[in-house]
Amino acid sequence: MKVTDRVYCRIGEHGNSNNGWILGDEYCLVVDTAAFPDETREDITRIQETTDKAIKFLINTHFHPDHTFGNMYFSDIIGHAFCYEKLKEMIPLYMEDVKKEPQNEKRLQQVQFRLPTLTFRGRITIHAEPDTIVAHKGGHTLGSAVVYIPEEQVLFSGDLLFAGYHPYMGDADLPQWIAALQSLLTLEIKFIIPGHGELCDLKEIVRHITYLETFLDTLKDLKKKYSKETLIQNPSLLDLPHMGNEERICKNINAQYDRV
Ligand SMILES: [Zn+2]
Repeated sequence: MKVTDRVYCRIGEHGNSNNGWILGDEYCLVVDTAAFPDETREDITRIQETTDKAIKFLINTHFHPDHTFGNMYFSDIIGHAFCYEKLKEMIPLYMEDVKKEPQNEKRLQQVQFRLPTLTFRGRITIHAEPDTIVAHKGGHTLGSAVVYIPEEQVLFSGDLLFAGYHPYMGDADLPQWIAALQSLLTLEIKFIIPGHGELCDLKEIVRHITYLETFLDTLKDLKKKYSKETLIQNPSLLDLPHMGNEERICKNINAQYDRV
């Protein structure tokens, strides 16, 4: 899907992970891979249909497998230092998980894990014409980063945004996540490619901040009265809006109860 003259994206079906690419004057940058190697190969074909320029860098917004399981098809991969460390730590576990997914076993068996080859800590600018800024934000995961192309007024938010879906909070620091989103509100942005869900804009960031604040404040209050188990059995007590992936609320309570 064409977002601007220089930015394209693929929106995953049913809330599956999104990714995209940026057409520079001399080369092309890719942001995140699909969840499966075969989908990533399809993405590369799509990229080659839009440009004759070579792919120079893949950027991993964070370590989660639905954004990194196609890393094997790219030579130079940029990721935050924590993204590198966490992916390295998780690979043995992911290998076990792959075996436990009989439905997708065949597709996932093709995965050859590959780590970022270039890491950064604060932010870097890739002078790809247009300049592309990769900035560390944290929140969703410790090493989460966003990709911003000021000239195009486009942001790849990674999983800091799940547009229309309950977000995944398994590795999240909620106060840091809220602060990360607040820091994006001052940017000039026309289009946001979220980590999951449809193409959106700054309104989605505002909505997400409200969602995360509600989750955090309500969980803190409920914790005074209810055990973790009770809340997991009664997720409607959190009074969250109805969105895709409702089952995720219980998992998020489980992940965040002891942290709030
Ligand atoms: Zn994701």
